[in-house]
Amino acid sequence: MNQHVLIVEDEKSVAELLKDYLQAAGYEAHIIANGDEVEPWVRSNAPDLILLDIMLPGKDGITLCKNIRSYSQVPIIMATAKVDEIDRLLGLELGADDYICKPFSPREVVARVKAVLRRTTNNNPTTCALITVDKQGVRVLVDDIDLAFTAVEFHLFTALYSQPGRIFSRDQLIKKIYDDHRMVNDRTVDSHIKKLRLKISKAKLGMDLIHSVYGIGYKYEEL
Ligand code: CA
Repeated sequence: MNQHVLIVEDEKSVAELLKDYLQAAGYEAHIIANGDEVEPWVRSNAPDLILLDIMLPGKDGITLCKNIRSYSQVPIIMATAKVDEIDRLLGLELGADDYICKPFSPREVVARVKAVLRRTTNNNPTTCALITVDKQGVRVLVDDIDLAFTAVEFHLFTALYSQPGRIFSRDQLIKKIYDDHRMVNDRTVDSHIKKLRLKISKAKLGMDLIHSVYGIGYKYEEL
C-alpha cells in the first residue's frame, strides 16, 4: 500500500503542485486548506506523514503540531515562509521532524518526505552498530578505531548523536558545548563541524553522519 501524505496548505496552486509531485513519486496525497479540519482528518485517516504550513485559516500550523504531538508520532514537516522563523520554531521544541522554507521546489519537498519517512520507519534509527561513544574516555570509536575528536568535537557529536534526526540550530549547539557561549559565533560551530565530518569521513563508514540543514543548522542522520 502506498504511503499517505497529508498536505496542509491554503495556497491552492502550491498544494496542487505538491500533490502532483508526491503522486508521481508513488505517494497518495490529500490536501486540507483549513487548519480546523486537520485534526479530525488525522484522527480518522492516520496519514504516514504531514506537510504542515504555518499560516493557515483556522488553527495555525504551530498549534496543530503541538496538538497532534500530544497523541501521535506521525512525522511532520513544517513549512515556513521565513528562514528567520525556523530558529524560533526550533526553540519551541514542537517535535516536528523537519523544516522547509518557502518558496521551496516540489522536488526538494519530495526528497525531504522520502528522507523523513526512511528515518522514521526504520525500526532502529538511533544506533549504528559500528559506533561506540565512550563518555568517560571522551572518545568516539568506529569499529574500535578512535576518531580522535577534540573535546569540543566530541561534545558536538554527542549532542547531535543523542537525538538522531533532530535539527539543532548553531545557537543551540553553542549552548550545549560551551559554558560561556557569548564568546562563540556561528562560524566557530561550522568550522568544528567541518573538522568533525572530515574525521568521520576518514573512518570510511560509507555514509555521512552529520548533515547540515540549509539555513538552519545541523542534524545527525545515518545516510
Ligand atoms: Ca499559508
